[in-house]
Amino acid sequence: MLKVSKLNVQIDGKDVLRDLSFKVNAGEVHAIMGPNGSGKSTLSKMIAGYPGYTVNSGDIEYEINGTYKSLLKMEPDERAKDGVFLAFQYPVEVPGVSNFAFLRMAFNSICRHQGAPELSEEKFRKLVEEKTKLVEMAPDFLERGVNAGFSGGEKKRNEILQMAVLQPRLAILDETDSGLDIDALRVVANGVNKLRSPDRAMVLITHYQRLLNFIVPDYVHVLANGRIVRSGGRELALELEKNGYNAYL
Ligand code: ADP
Ligand code: MG
Repeated sequence: MLKVSKLNVQIDGKDVLRDLSFKVNAGEVHAIMGPNGSGKSTLSKMIAGYPGYTVNSGDIEYEINGTYKSLLKMEPDERAKDGVFLAFQYPVEVPGVSNFAFLRMAFNSICRHQGAPELSEEKFRKLVEEKTKLVEMAPDFLERGVNAGFSGGEKKRNEILQMAVLQPRLAILDETDSGLDIDALRVVANGVNKLRSPDRAMVLITHYQRLLNFIVPDYVHVLANGRIVRSGGRELALELEKNGYNAYL
């Protein structure tokens, strides 16, 4: 579903991603682990379409209906409408735009693009209220501005709520576990596990192994200094927890 090949990205003249390659198939959950500053968020932003970074070479390809498209040539909204989703490491507050209106607009533009019927306000409310239960979020959060005044943990739950509503094919979760207490971590992990499916792929970016006690990945990759230096199964995460990242720096 996703093929990143020899991606080189510079930010302000500094090489941040260097010859980075990896592949994700439908149905798989991959974890990308690495120390601070190794390029994890940069990779997630490149997949979602963050502007302003220079791609020197390489490509990010996304397979949909049997054809590969270069994500780099698509606008961020086109990527989203084709099923790419990013849960931000630092979710943005959008005061004045209700969470409900935001989710409904996003949901309906995806439906329009994919040729599915749009939902009326009433029908969408039913759907979204069902999804708030999944993330154990009180329905009044829907009436507040997007993330406006939400606590760190509430923002992360809201990212999972977005994912549950928008039903992406490819979901990238950038440190959705950071700053969560153990209950919120369980809620987030539960939300993610419920969304695992044979036609969906997920990439979990984290630097702690504890999330992977709740969400068992198929593959684990170590990202250090802008490249994937090692890949393995979930035992690699346990090894990293024990020995740290020093061996890769
Ligand atoms: P991680 O998510 O693994 O902690 P990032 O992808 O956020 O790492 O950052 C990788 C490197 O790129 C860091 O050294 C960071 O300072 C640098 N970087 C990221 N964004 C910018 C920017 N807008 N301007 C300058 N440097 C940046
Ligand atoms: Mg980061």
